[in-house]
Amino acid sequence: MGQGNLTKGDCEMKRLSIVKGDIVKAKTDAIVNAANTSLLGGGGVDGAIHRAAGPELLAECETLHGCRTGEAKITKGYKLKAKYVIHTPGPIWRGGKWGEEDLLANCYRNCLALAKEYGVKSIAFPSISTGVYRFPIDLAAKIAVGEILHFLETDDTMEQIILVCFDEGTKAAYQKAFAELTA
Ligand code: ADP
Repeated sequence: MGQGNLTKGDCEMKRLSIVKGDIVKAKTDAIVNAANTSLLGGGGVDGAIHRAAGPELLAECETLHGCRTGEAKITKGYKLKAKYVIHTPGPIWRGGKWGEEDLLANCYRNCLALAKEYGVKSIAFPSISTGVYRFPIDLAAKIAVGEILHFLETDDTMEQIILVCFDEGTKAAYQKAFAELTA
């Protein structure tokens, strides 16, 4: 299909990709960290990002005085290929009646708004909250892909958004959500 035949929907899909990999290796302008509210590092993807970025990342995080669940704060990327790290604490899943879905949607929305504010043209997200925070993967994938597609509908500055999945099961859930939301 030639570029001239692309619909707006096709264009949004072209700017979003779902891949399996390690987010610390992403060559995007920014990577998102599924942080905790202290912003002082943790396990999972948070630990991997801090290890790869080096101790200067923690030193900058210490100046930020934490971050509320669903909100986002930005730092430099230090030794990472990415220029920025956008830190967002996802909600801990406590059964679904504590606003978890809205809080997870806020994570994606606030990260994208902050990225835009800093002129970020490419950004990589991990699967926020679906590790030790135990958010159900199918629901998390639907919220993540839904928020990203919604953002791309009105945005014309972001060139590439990558959802970096750490395992095949996570990637399959995001692909399924993408297929359902773009059907
Ligand atoms: P949360 O506390 O938000 O649940 P976790 O780090 O425990 O965060 O898990 C979030 C997701 O990130 C999980 O799917 C986990 O497998 C994945 N993950 C862990 N390390 C990496 C990494 N280096 N790159 C990308 N994803 C990762």
